[in-house]
Amino acid sequence: MNNSMKLSLSTEISKSNNVGIVSHLNPDGDNIGSILALGISLEKLGKTVTILKSDYVPNDLLFLPYVNKIIKVEDDLKFDILFVLDSSDPERLGDNKRYLSNSGIVVNIDHHISNTNFGNINIVDSKASSTSEIIFKLIEELELPLDENVATCIYAGISTDTGRFMYENVTSSTHIIVSKLLDTGIDAYYINKKLYQNRSLERTKLFIEVVGTTKLLCDNKVSIAKVTLENLSKTNAKPEDSDGIVEFLRDTETVEVSVLLKEITTSLTRVSIRTKDYVDANKICSHFGGGGHLRAAGCTIEKSIDESENLIIEVIKNYI
Ligand code: AMP
Ligand code: MN
Ligand code: MN
Repeated sequence: MNNSMKLSLSTEISKSNNVGIVSHLNPDGDNIGSILALGISLEKLGKTVTILKSDYVPNDLLFLPYVNKIIKVEDDLKFDILFVLDSSDPERLGDNKRYLSNSGIVVNIDHHISNTNFGNINIVDSKASSTSEIIFKLIEELELPLDENVATCIYAGISTDTGRFMYENVTSSTHIIVSKLLDTGIDAYYINKKLYQNRSLERTKLFIEVVGTTKLLCDNKVSIAKVTLENLSKTNAKPEDSDGIVEFLRDTETVEVSVLLKEITTSLTRVSIRTKDYVDANKICSHFGGGGHLRAAGCTIEKSIDESENLIIEVIKNYI
């Protein structure tokens, strides 16, 4: 963040009382971690904060402090300032997109390469490991309140978006930030157990069911699996219980691209893509109006799961 941006953001925060914070559909740890961290910090500063719920909160994030502050708002509230976090474009907000035109000023804070710079102030750094990392820097630079609760949420956001500090988006700055988070007194072992050793039985059953149907294509460079509505009802799992499968598919030696197709309805499919070395996941998903990052992206296709599979394979073949 350059000095003029810092100054204008700092001025806008001091001028405003009524703050809204929102993030994307199909939430992940960076989404929930960053909105809670900023929300708790700004509330400590004395602001009136509303954290808008765009979608469900995943089970493994329900342990985060103040998670019940993420609320569904039916009335059209007006905010002096609206922070949109971890969201590449307004469509990602679902119904909460309406708050963009209902707010005095929109601050867009994100790390997606496909971000459209839709805010009045845009703090977009595609090199940042996570939005949570950008929020930490902002809290530090603007001298906003930081405590164990804020730090816990930021730690969860960074850890989940970096695949537990594994991906190429991890820098020395990421580790320096984590060191500062640990110094606030957070219990990292507790956070890690809650995040990674707490899978529901339904989720494990879904994993076993789905991974067994994996197909390997293009000389074993492409790995594809499907989560059908039938798989969900058989295992009593929820759609979000498929989180983590696409990373498992990627982690085979020969695999460069992994794909998980999720049947939402008989004519709507959600696609998650992960890549390892040279294929641009964002490019593949942008063919279908989606996006994300170089190594992780997603899109939604208005076709059946089988038709979507064929379409996505055709596109991948051009990049592999
Ligand atoms: P997912 O496969 O849903 O975990 O998404 C992987 C990454 O791509 C995440 O950072 C998402 O925020 C992003 N992403 C997923 N779907 C879209 C989309 N339709 N447009 C832009 N980014 C997306
Ligand atoms: Mn996210
Ligand atoms: Mn993120």
